[in-house]
Amino acid sequence: MQKIVDETLMPVNLKGTVFAPGLAIGHIIFHEPRVEILKFKSKNSSKELQRLKKALTDLRKDIDKMLRSSDLSGASDYKDVLEAYKMLSLDEGWVRKLNKAVLQGLTAEAAVESVQASMNEKFNKFDDIYLSERLYDLKDLSNRLERHLTGTALSSSLKELPKDTILLARNLGPTELLNYPKSKLKGLILEEGSRSSHTTIVARALNIPLMGRTKSLNEMSVKQNEIVIIDGEKGEIFIRPTEDIQNIYSIKMKMSQALKIEYKSIKDKKGITLDGKRIELNMNAGLIMELNQLEESGADGIGLFRTELQFLISETLPRMDEQKDFYRSVLDAAKGKKVIFRTLDIGGDKILPYMTAPKEENPALGWRAIRVALDRPGLLRLQLRALIHASENSELNVMFPMIAEFDELMQAKELLSKEISRMKKFNKLLPKKISVGSMLEIPSLIWQFDILLPEVDFISVGSNDLMQFLFAADRGNSALSDRYSILKPSALKFLKQAVNKCNEYRVPIHICGDISGKFSYVLALLGLGFRSFSLTPADIGPIKKIVRSLHLEDLEKFMNSQLKTDLLTIEDNLLLYAEQNNIILENILDA
Ligand code: PEP
Ligand code: MG
Repeated sequence: MQKIVDETLMPVNLKGTVFAPGLAIGHIIFHEPRVEILKFKSKNSSKELQRLKKALTDLRKDIDKMLRSSDLSGASDYKDVLEAYKMLSLDEGWVRKLNKAVLQGLTAEAAVESVQASMNEKFNKFDDIYLSERLYDLKDLSNRLERHLTGTALSSSLKELPKDTILLARNLGPTELLNYPKSKLKGLILEEGSRSSHTTIVARALNIPLMGRTKSLNEMSVKQNEIVIIDGEKGEIFIRPTEDIQNIYSIKMKMSQALKIEYKSIKDKKGITLDGKRIELNMNAGLIMELNQLEESGADGIGLFRTELQFLISETLPRMDEQKDFYRSVLDAAKGKKVIFRTLDIGGDKILPYMTAPKEENPALGWRAIRVALDRPGLLRLQLRALIHASENSELNVMFPMIAEFDELMQAKELLSKEISRMKKFNKLLPKKISVGSMLEIPSLIWQFDILLPEVDFISVGSNDLMQFLFAADRGNSALSDRYSILKPSALKFLKQAVNKCNEYRVPIHICGDISGKFSYVLALLGLGFRSFSLTPADIGPIKKIVRSLHLEDLEKFMNSQLKTDLLTIEDNLLLYAEQNNIILENILDA
């Protein structure tokens, strides 16, 4: 007799994209579905206008309440997100459209729905990540307004949420996320979602693992309260996991806790190798809320501060004073540790809503970063002015992204000099010291090092873009992500050449791209001569442990020998070297 298997009880293993890393085990809770509108037409427009007005007032009060919430204390970035929401809720254009729809005979809630529908249509015409994210913000706001109008609470059962809730939704706005009690929310799964959305920013800040772009969860016949595991290291989700998988993950979570404790124990120690060589381990950041990681991770400083993030989460171009205050607060939070500010890397896929930019065939190769800055010098000058002001009496470290040619660096430096002269003219205080760096992200630059290096105080390799351009491989395309790496001879030789030239000119060279998670890359880079890294904060601990367990001179000898081989990749040899020398490279979570 044929055995009938109930597929709705079978374990399911799904792939997704990791937007916020981490492990979580918990119970599935569906995010509240959209509000259902029952009445569309109204004969009493003035009553509906009153209702709309009251709901808008309540909505703004709601946001104010969230802004005051204790969960947000000290985390000014999601305050920024909420401020942006508040601005959106006050947007005259939006309110005018809502009023107009009511005056045309719709109920207030139907007016909200209808305005949102026409916005969807308008925005969806653009194939633009940033705009679609802002559209999602607006949907979130509309949904919230509809709830006020229909009297539907966000979730009638918020109080009854399990203490290990893993929230599941097609998509979710940041304010919706913030409505859930942080203490109970252990993870988030979105069928959609995106890396740079406000929801992602908030999830990272709250330390909640977030996986997105999963297959439709309806197809998986997922049910409320079922057990789910998020592996936000490998990008996997286990629904109805078998007991074995549950046991494995409970152990992994315990081990990861134990490791965190171990990393904490060395956080105040320096990155010094067994043969006494000092390795700088800095962290990457771009949001104020990430700065508490400086203390927690034990990073030496911030090797890459991505200034464009402030611009991206703002609804309007940040004024000079706002920029200055922001940079000042970064420096204050860094408490004297070094911060390297990278000037705006906008354009490409980072389009500012308030900036008109041409539609491009190949945005990553297009009008972005220093190219925009030199074509629109007003923007860069304003930013440099804000940076100089913010660093008065302290040290200013600034670097320019996507430099392809010597002349671009010189033009950028010229703008910096103009701003310094302007400060002097107005008798303003200047930074005690200004260091200028160039990023090495475009291979062409290396053949200009002889003239460029005497003009800079440091070079910072942006390995994400450098690898993308060296191998002509889109960094965002997961089909290519395992194809090329730093461990390929062409990349190694390129980087070695860069290190040699910098050493010849006595210019420090750092690396700040996303080499995190791949600890073998760090080992190879150390062996090539890199002494300063900027990493994801979570990797500072594990990499410091590796640094403190190796003999650098020996590693350099090994790497020199590898540069002479004709292997397609040195990965196997490197792993063997690590094993033979008791260097534990494996991230326990990958096991
Ligand atoms: C890089 O390209 O490696 C880099 C650090 O810059 P971003 O990732 O911001 O492009
Ligand atoms: Mg880059």
